[in-house]
Amino acid sequence: FSNLIISALPIVRRLREHHFEAFFVGGAVRDTVLGLPIKDVDIATSATPEQVLALFDHCIPTGLQHGTITVVEKNMAYEVTTFRQESAYEGHRKPESVLYITELEGDLLRRDFTMNAMALAENGELHDPYGGLRDLELKQLRSVGDPNARFQEDALRMLRAVRFIGVYRLRPSHRTWRALKRHRQLLRFIAMERVLTELDKMMESESPQRALHFAVVSGLLAYLKEPLSEEAQRVLHQAGRDIPAMKKTFENIHELKQTHTRWAAVAIGLKLSQPALQQALQVLRFSNARMKSISSIADVHHEMFDFRTDVSLNAQKRKWLSMVIHYGRETAYEWLSVMRLMPEAALRLSDEQLSDLERWSDQMIISKLKQLSVNGKELAGYLAKEAGPWISEYLTRLLLLVACGELINEKSILLKQAALWEVNSHEL
Ligand code: ATP
Ligand code: MG
Repeated sequence: FSNLIISALPIVRRLREHHFEAFFVGGAVRDTVLGLPIKDVDIATSATPEQVLALFDHCIPTGLQHGTITVVEKNMAYEVTTFRQESAYEGHRKPESVLYITELEGDLLRRDFTMNAMALAENGELHDPYGGLRDLELKQLRSVGDPNARFQEDALRMLRAVRFIGVYRLRPSHRTWRALKRHRQLLRFIAMERVLTELDKMMESESPQRALHFAVVSGLLAYLKEPLSEEAQRVLHQAGRDIPAMKKTFENIHELKQTHTRWAAVAIGLKLSQPALQQALQVLRFSNARMKSISSIADVHHEMFDFRTDVSLNAQKRKWLSMVIHYGRETAYEWLSVMRLMPEAALRLSDEQLSDLERWSDQMIISKLKQLSVNGKELAGYLAKEAGPWISEYLTRLLLLVACGELINEKSILLKQAALWEVNSHEL
């Protein structure tokens, strides 16, 4: 047992002392069997929600309509769900009603895949009526029961399938995969928020490239409730037709630490235009903050790529440092890290070019307006000019020159340079 399961043992014991059945179920059991770290502990019990509420001091009725109570013990939260059976499904996404039952096996039957339909008893005994353990040994993902029926009941399961196949390095059973392909258009019944949650779990995992691969070859992404742009769909379709190229493009994506950088790498790797990326982020319900951090990296990319070749080193340096100033060091470095792992020659700057960029930004003396030895007020005073948008334009130009090492960061020097621009602009 992992520590997390051990810490949840008192809850199972308490239920059993009161003559209820209680087991660990779901992802925690699957990951225990696989020897992987556990994220959250789910407990299934024959006690009704009311009985659970009566038994524990600290409860939150998180999902009372489907029988789930969150029990808090020593600052840890555990989901306790009454054994249940699901009625006919509505709109390919949720059961019309749930029926509480007293048998574990019936509860396991409603679960999506055999590996998620195992239960672990307090004494370490594994209840595995649908052969989840064997499937895990075979590295196989298999629906509980008829996959056609299971995907028709709840279309989100298809995306979960793709995630598990990718992240756990499984192969789907033939029937499961055939059913997924057959019913993939049902994904349009699933809210975009839930789609993003699954996609994010894929991207956060240790094998984002593999999950991405199956997401693409399943064709599921062509059937979103809110469709991606034509461009994005074409690009994904194309990626699905040239698997070796796609594999190569994304093979190192797991080396990127942050999820948003990985997303940016996907957009860059697929050569998505900025409008198509924007549209995709919007329909997928990325938060504004995430949208910004992803598209900034892609923006840096587009700006650097309009530019890359046959310009002088000095011009390259200026361009790059103006990116660092405009988008911030973090974003600029994130783009560099994406470039470093892009294997495709057409997409990649040479190693020398990348090292140049890195060195220039490392050596940058200042990168923020407030580090400049002159401020807007002093500038306006010195030039005897009314404040206006010209101030920030001048300050940014000065900052870039100082950052490039072309001007010393001293007030008098900066003011003189500004005065020179002023004279020139009048002469024009
Ligand atoms: P993870 O937590 O790693 O994302 P998980 O399998 O634990 O994966 P949860 O959403 O935490 O996923 O669900 C817990 C369990 O509930 C699953 O293991 C599965 O048994 C069941 N389950 C979850 N979603 C579904 C679904 N859409 N259809 C059927 N059973 C499901
Ligand atoms: Mg879970």
